[in-house]
This record gives sequence, structure tokens and C-alpha cells, in this order.
Amino acid sequence: RPRALSGIQPTAGSFHLGNYLGAIRQYVALQESHDAFYMVVDLHAITVPQDPAELRANTRFAAAQLLAAGLDPERCTLFVQSHVPEHAQLGWVMNCLTGFGEASRMTQFKDKSAKQGADRATVGLFTYPILQVADILLYQATHVPVGEDQRQHIELTRDLAERFNGRFGETFTVPAPYIVKETGKIYDLQDPAIKMSKSASTPKGLINLLDDPKVTAKKVKSAVTDTDTVIRFDPENKPGVSNLLVIMSTLTDTPVADLEKSYEGKMYGALKTDLAEVMVDFVTPFRARTQEYLDDPETLDSVLAKGAEKARAVAAETLAQTYDRIGFLPAK
Ligand code: ATP
Ligand code: MG
Repeated sequence: RPRALSGIQPTAGSFHLGNYLGAIRQYVALQESHDAFYMVVDLHAITVPQDPAELRANTRFAAAQLLAAGLDPERCTLFVQSHVPEHAQLGWVMNCLTGFGEASRMTQFKDKSAKQGADRATVGLFTYPILQVADILLYQATHVPVGEDQRQHIELTRDLAERFNGRFGETFTVPAPYIVKETGKIYDLQDPAIKMSKSASTPKGLINLLDDPKVTAKKVKSAVTDTDTVIRFDPENKPGVSNLLVIMSTLTDTPVADLEKSYEGKMYGALKTDLAEVMVDFVTPFRARTQEYLDDPETLDSVLAKGAEKARAVAAETLAQTYDRIGFLPAK
């Protein structure tokens, strides 16, 4: 079977609609066709300051949301990154394989460090794409389900896998990004020129899955559109309306063309009212399921423990082979 690997940060509060449509939905789908490994990437979270108690809570919170979204521990391996020490270990190897200039070209660092102030950004934030390379290569992943913003990091992963294989012999599977064209980039509801993001969006432009459904409905209804009146998919000229159509289409499994037809002659308000209802119907059971997992931390922790064990078996084998190829003297 092909192998899927992806990671998501333990965000404070809640995953947002972009995370769900761009990434998590694909995690759920790929459990059926792939050997799938999904992790809560707490090592990545500490690239920016974290409160210890909150980080712990957010890690459980993230796992609960992934299960609520449909990840099934019987069909995939769900674990916490720091439970598998091989990530940090292979991360170092990958650091030593990456050029400084090459790392400097990663646009996410430029964006994120600009926001923080270049002097306050950590070296960890600078090298986090290289840790991500290790995350993926450890599992010999063939497919990496992510949003469009991660494409460059998957490119880097491919480059480093090929570089290592070329220098030390065939060791790593060269992975491909798995990015769904329609939902790879969901836009901010208030500023459809930027992606919906936990760090860049304004509160009104960001749909948090665990928000009060009333708040969610209100955000949908006040989404920015345009001064035209036609409900038509045209991302270039009508980015706001197109974003709403994509969200509606994905959540209701209806082709965009069918939506365009059914909204012919109707006003934006009609689409927004319907989408608000669809969103409420989606988030209400999602919140309830997340809460059930949170109310039972023992079960949650045992799912994560079993996941870590399965993940470690795979990761340890890849790391051992890598160390051997590099020429590290075995410890015995
Ligand atoms: P930040 O802005 O701080 O990077 P984020 O909102 O991008 O946060 P992440 O935890 O970095 O959240 O992303 C988790 C996954 O969700 C990644 O695969 C990412 O590509 C995807 N993703 C994030 N935002 C969107 C979006 N607006 N549309 C589609 N996919 C997205
Ligand atoms: Mg991101």
C-alpha cells in the first residue's frame, strides 16, 4: 500500500476551516487507501514560545479534534511527534544535508519571522522545514496531504531525499505532495486575498471549528463578497464569492457548477444563509464529538500511546538504516 504522512500543530483553541478542508479531510480519506501516519507536531509548536501547561492541553485538544473529524485509530496511526525521538534525531541529519541558502529560501520563514520581528524569531523556526523533511522521510511516505502553503516544504523534502540517496545509496522514498486543487487554499472570509490562517487572519475572517455555532453563522453571513450580484465561480474577479462556493461545494458534496445553477438569479444573502446553516450542521456534532474525547483523557492517551508504539517501529528502522549509511559506528 502507498503511505501517507502528515502533521498538524497543536493550536491553542481550535483548528480552523482551512485546516479541515485543506488537510484534515484528506487525512480521513487517505486512511482507506494508504498506510496512514498522522501526528500532532508538538516539536514544531515550540518554534514559537509556548506555555507548558497549555502546550500539554493543546496537544490532547488537537488529537481529540482529529478523532472527532473522523480519524480512526484502527485504520491509521495517530501519535504525538515528541513521543517518537527519531524525529529529532533524523532532523539533525537533515540539517547537516541542507544548504544555508537553500533553507533561507523557504518563504514561510520569511512571512512568519517578519511578523514576529526578525530578531525574535528562533533558529528553530528557521529550520522547522528541515525537521518536517525528517518527519516525512522517517515513514517512507509516498504522499503528504497538506495545504498549498506547504508545497515548498515538500519540494525541499524531495530534494533532500534525492540528495541523501545519491550520496549514500537508496534509503528514502521520494514523496509527492497530496494537495487537493479546489481546497488547497481556503481564504480569509474578510480578506479573500490572503489564506485563512491562525496567525494572519482577523478573528472575523477565521472560522474556528470549535467556536459557538452562532458565532460561526454570523461570520459566514458577514463574509466579504463584491459589488457585483452574480453568484459565479471566478477566483480572480470574485475571490470572496468563489471561496464561499468552494466551502459550500466541499461540505455538501455538490459540484460548484450545480451550485452556480441553483443560485442563478439569487442574491449573495441566499448563498450566505444556506452556507451558514451547512456550517452549523457541520460544526455542531464536531464540537460534541471533540468534547467526548476530551472528557475521557485516559482513552485518548492510550490511543496516542499505541500510535507512538506503531510509529516508532517504522521510524526506528529508517533511522538505523540512515545512521548505518552515514557511517556512524554502531553502539556495541
Ligand atoms: P499558521 O498560519 O500559523 O501557519 P495555519 O493556519 O497555516 O497556521 P497549520 O497548523 O500551519 O495552520 O496548518 C495545518 C495544515 O492545514 C497544513 O497542512 C496546512 O497546509 C493546512 N492549511 C492551513 N491553512 C489552510 C488554508 N487556509 N487552506 C487550506 N489548507 C490550509
Ligand atoms: Mg501553516
